[in-house]
Amino acid sequence: MLIGKGDYVNRLSKKSLRVYVNGERVENFVEHPNIKPIIDSIGLTYELAQADEYRELTTAHSQFIDEPVNRFLHIYTTKEDLLARLKLARFYSQRLATCNYRCVGSDALNALYTVTYEMDEALGTEYHKRLVEYIKYAQRNDLALSGALTDVKGDRSKKPHEQDDMYLKIVEKRSDGIVVKGAKAHQSGAVAVDETIVMPTIALKEEDKAYAVAFAVPAGAEGLIYVMQNNAFEAKRREDGEWEFGNPYGVRGTCLMIFDNVFIPWERVFMCEEYKYAAPLVGNFANIHRYVGSGCKAGFIDTIIGAAELMADYNGVLNASHIQAKITEMIRGCEGCYACALAAGYEAQQTKSGVWLPHGLYSNVSKLLGFTAIGDAIVYLADIAGGICVTCPSERDLKNPEIGRYIEHYLRGREDVPTEARMKVIKFIEYWMAGPHEGGAVHGGGSPITPNLFIKRLANVKEKVELVKELLKL
Ligand SMILES: Cc1cc2nc3c(=O)[nH]c(=O)nc-3n(C[C@H](O)[C@H](O)[C@H](O)COP(=O)(O)OP(=O)(O)OC[C@H]3O[C@@H](n4cnc5c(N)ncnc54)[C@H](O)[C@@H]3O)c2cc1C
Repeated sequence: MLIGKGDYVNRLSKKSLRVYVNGERVENFVEHPNIKPIIDSIGLTYELAQADEYRELTTAHSQFIDEPVNRFLHIYTTKEDLLARLKLARFYSQRLATCNYRCVGSDALNALYTVTYEMDEALGTEYHKRLVEYIKYAQRNDLALSGALTDVKGDRSKKPHEQDDMYLKIVEKRSDGIVVKGAKAHQSGAVAVDETIVMPTIALKEEDKAYAVAFAVPAGAEGLIYVMQNNAFEAKRREDGEWEFGNPYGVRGTCLMIFDNVFIPWERVFMCEEYKYAAPLVGNFANIHRYVGSGCKAGFIDTIIGAAELMADYNGVLNASHIQAKITEMIRGCEGCYACALAAGYEAQQTKSGVWLPHGLYSNVSKLLGFTAIGDAIVYLADIAGGICVTCPSERDLKNPEIGRYIEHYLRGREDVPTEARMKVIKFIEYWMAGPHEGGAVHGGGSPITPNLFIKRLANVKEKVELVKELLKL
């Protein structure tokens, strides 16, 4: 089923969540200025799934319920599905210039689909059957899902069992389900979704089997607490004008999600103590998410390039050779990352479960190309925009009857471009300069060392040594 943005927001507003923003409990969370932009971003994924011109990309035909569903809830049982998923990520990043908040949940479903299949086959468990029933439920109700992997981890040198629930764990197994305790960090959009898919964050050994747990939890389940990142700056800036913040969809909104003894019924549990399967689950997720994340970065860079080009044009320097050289560099970084992800999609392998997984080496390389490209693009953007990208007066100054005419005059670029248009672009550039996206690009899908380790392992360097030996007759 496909529901509209209004249905999604109505459903969300009926939920009772324990949400804290900047030290205060928030009752009407859907209207809160730090949360509403997240809802608007997710809302666009509902709106554009109903727009005829985009439907081919934004929806897919479900193999489970034989109906069109939002592509974020689709399982990739064809290579075309997997490629469309990458294109979807770029498509939404281009239109939001922030997170769409549905990627992690989508990628978690697909990773679980492969690993639950393997578990059922080898262990005679029922996880895959449960997951398929859950996917049908999610598709029939067009649920927005977030994905929670990242544990708070405490002392990173210690294993999960050597610390006090710094990794989410099973604290009780009952006849009707399990009880879990712990906290997941940096949860993109979790405060504005219907349900969260929870998985482990690292490979686990037997002594850590209590941490080998995967499940779906509805928003607002008893014991769940959401503590928002402090976006006070954004909220304040929004009060300062219609476009003062720069991006109408806001910064990337995340929260700390605390599980204070949360009960999960068995039908929603997709892994319970099968520690040997934590590594393939995390590995498959990382592979998919790094692949999809490259589409996301490319879409972000598209908006950065667009802003750089506009600013140069408004400043009358668009055709300067060094400006065009920088814009070309931005395009190179963007398309290099995206092309590498496309290669991962074209070289994908189908698993026994039917799901297609991206080519691991290329997906990991694309993640690293993506974070370098976005970092470089932000630096080039600052260069092209000039110092005004961090020193601009406000929308209110422009609208102030006493000083507005000065701002209008002195913040003008080319004479035929209204100052307001130039200031809007400056604010959008400021958003990229000062926002959390660089941090997101570095750590999203895992800190750079993890893809690097995969790359070294998957690249088969020994084969390259043999090639040289063969060539030189060594
Ligand atoms: C904007 C944003 C959105 C995100 N959204 C989500 C989301 O929706 N869902 C989700 O589950 N996660 C999300 N993440 C989390 C992301 O996956 C993590 O940030 C990433 O895995 C790194 O974990 P960390 O932040 O705990 O950093 P850390 O693990 O603390 O890493 C910091 C540094 O320490 C190093 N390090 C860590 N452990 C060790 C060790 N044992 N030995 C040696 N070095 C070590 C790392 O390599 C890195 O250089 C998001 C992150 C960001 C920034």
